[in-house]
Amino acid sequence: MRKHSADRACGCSQPGRRQFLMRGATALTALAIAAFPRYAAAQQKASKEQAGYQPRPKDSQSCASCTNFMPPRDCKVVEGPVAPNGWSRLYKPK
Ligand code: SF4
Repeated sequence: MRKHSADRACGCSQPGRRQFLMRGATALTALAIAAFPRYAAAQQKASKEQAGYQPRPKDSQSCASCTNFMPPRDCKVVEGPVAPNGWSRLYKPK
């Protein structure tokens, strides 16, 4: 009876360790590809309407003091442009 080696194919019909690992790597790649659209969707920004954006501050809160603000007029989570004196419900203080 032949023994299966970790590094050499034995020539028999039973899958060896190498084939098992290759199938596992292929399955993981397929999973990563399948998961990518969800990741990309998670990276989409909210519209101004969804975020309740307004072009003026709310009380003492404004984009300029928000951790999501990217000067001069962008936001990490709301579609731009946004004004430094704007505000949305996604405001997060620095
Ligand atoms: S207040 Fe809203 S729109 Fe302004 S930077 Fe923060 S998250 Fe973006």
